[in-house]
This record gives sequence, structure tokens and C-alpha cells, in this order.
Amino acid sequence: MTVPVKIPRAWAVLLILALNACGTQPAQLHQRQFLLFGTLVDISIWSADKKKAENAIAQITADLEKMHHEWHAWHDSPLTRLNKALAAGQPGTVPPPMIPLLQKSIALSDASDGLFNPAIGKLINVWGFQQDDAPNSTPPDAARIHALVTQQPTMQDLTLAQDQITSRNPHAQLDFGAIAKGYAVDLAIEKLRTLGIHNAIINAGGNLRAIGTHGDRPWRIGIRNPRGPGVLASIEARGDESMLTSGDYERFFEYQGKRYHHIIDPRTGYPARGLASVTASVTVIYPDAATADAASTALFVAGPPRWRDIAKKMDIQYIMIVDDKGNVTMTPAMAERVRFELKPAPTVSIVALP
Ligand code: ADP
Ligand code: MG
Repeated sequence: MTVPVKIPRAWAVLLILALNACGTQPAQLHQRQFLLFGTLVDISIWSADKKKAENAIAQITADLEKMHHEWHAWHDSPLTRLNKALAAGQPGTVPPPMIPLLQKSIALSDASDGLFNPAIGKLINVWGFQQDDAPNSTPPDAARIHALVTQQPTMQDLTLAQDQITSRNPHAQLDFGAIAKGYAVDLAIEKLRTLGIHNAIINAGGNLRAIGTHGDRPWRIGIRNPRGPGVLASIEARGDESMLTSGDYERFFEYQGKRYHHIIDPRTGYPARGLASVTASVTVIYPDAATADAASTALFVAGPPRWRDIAKKMDIQYIMIVDDKGNVTMTPAMAERVRFELKPAPTVSIVALP
């Protein structure tokens, strides 16, 4: 969850080629777009049953709105109330729907060596990325960042017993911004299936899961160009797959010619930057969207030279990293599937995992 309102850029995140190519079939595309989780959410269902599709869209929209409220990191919500208890050194009650999200977050944080760390809510707040308005226009005081990093809040500070959570560290403050959209997409896809929908895409601002097909062809999904308009590349989804992108363009400000974005390196307290090159976006394909969401954030933070180790630990095979000059680094598995839409195609390096 970043900010509640963002400029819709449907073209940037979802590319459905040849919309009505199957004229002989009665099935068609049913779509709805709305703003939630600080981004544009797009539901696309391919179905011959209009009533069923519209009912499914209405139910999912209501579900997503509920999740948005429950996991909100700065409005009055079950999550902010939980954070208040933890800050006061008291146990907090976790609402039942939040328990699996919390468990997943703890496991994925561990698998990412703490680079995906949803306990750094205080840092995210101090950078101004937990507010409805535009983020701050200047970086926070270095001493303040240093103090927050020194407190070292991690998911391992938390102990969950049934629906009670306690924290060893009063500085741990939960912010699910790097996983909530993926997890919400997973739940929505699960719900779609129970409603008899088997061909769909749910896309929350470039965080999507696709199931089934678009008629007689696979869903073709666009990866946004992080430094300009349009689509950088596209990929065909295979049956049931998630594709998620973390980018430095989602939420940022510029100060003295430097970009300060919303993906924070928990080790330094500053927006993550590469060493040899500056990372602009990381795209990951994985079966479930929650894992892919946490992984895209973790790999962004890892940057060169550590992303390959973290990918290995998190078991991620399909990765595309774009730097701020537009150069692309991909794993061999990803390279096999990518079609560049941008002309001329970017410079590409293919790097195998260890
Ligand atoms: P997006 O929200 O644009 O899809 P991410 O999935 O990378 O991008 O999530 C970024 C959000 O996650 C930030 O707005 C913040 O709320 C939170 N966040 C930032 N850095 C981290 C981190 N290292 N670990 C966990 N959460 C983070
Ligand atoms: Mg993420």
C-alpha cells in the first residue's frame, strides 16, 4: 500500500493483444478498473457468461476494499491498532484474515535475509511514504535514519501464538506495502475460482496473477518501461502465474538531482540503489503473487551483486532487472520468454543463477 491515488496507466501494466481476435466465440472480456492500494487495480475476466463475470467482479471488488482497509499502514485500521500495541510493548490481537499474511511475511523475510522486511514501518514513515499526500520533498535527517536503523526491527522480533502477537522490539512497526498487493491478488484469484471463473487476470499496479487463457490464446502481459512511456517487453502467461514488478517510479521525490524512492534498504535506511548501476525496476515471475511481491522488493534491495544469491534462496527463476539507463539484466529462464516491444530493443545481459 503506497498512496491512495495514482494516475491510471493501464497501458503500462497490462497489454492485451488482439482483444477480439476470436470473433466466432461468444466469450468476451469483462473488465473493471478502480483505485485501491494506492494504485490502479484492473480485473479482466474472459467469459461467455456475462452475469457470472459481473457478479465475480463485484464480489472481488468488495473483498479487495476490505483488505485495503484492514492492512492500511497509516489510516485507522486493524493494522495501525496492532502497531500501537506493539510500540507500547503490549501484545496485540491479530484479526484472523491477517494471520496468514503475517505468517507468510515472517517466512519470506527470513528467506530474503531480511531484505524484504515489513517491520521497518517507522523508516518508511520517516521518509514520507506513509501519507496520502505526495511524499516529503527532502530526505530526513541522517541522524534520524541512523537511529532507526540501529534499532534493527525485524520480523524475527515478533512472536505469533494463535491470534496474539508480541514483539521483543518496540521499534518494530508493520507495513505490508511490499507484499499486500500480491497477497490480495492471490486471495482474489482463489475467490474467482470458487465462483467458477477460470480465465482471468487481476492486476494491482503491475502486480498481477493470470489464470487460464484469453480465448484461444494465452494472456500476454506487458512490463512497463521504467524510464519512459509505453511497454518495455511482454510475456505470455502459462496457465496460472504471477508477474510482479517493483519500480523506483511508483513513489519518489527528487532532491538535488537524486531520486529518493519508496523501496528502502533496511541495512542503510536509505532508498535501495545498486552499486555498479542504479536499479530502476525488478520483475519476477512466480506461481503465487505474494511470494513474487516480496521477492521483487527483496531483489530490488539486494541489487548487484547480491540479487543472485537472494533469488536462489527464495527459489525465483524468472527475473528481469532494468537499470536507470534502460539496460536489462535477465536470468536465462526469463530471457527465453521475453519479447521486447520497445524499439530499438535495450542492451541485454543474461546472467545465470548460482
Ligand atoms: P510497489 O508498492 O510499488 O508495488 P513494492 O512491492 O516494492 O513496490 O513495495 C514498496 C512498499 O513496500 C513501500 O511503499 C513500503 O511501504 C514497503 N517497503 C519499502 N521497502 C521495504 C523493504 N525493504 N521491505 C519490506 N517492505 C518495504
Ligand atoms: Mg513487493
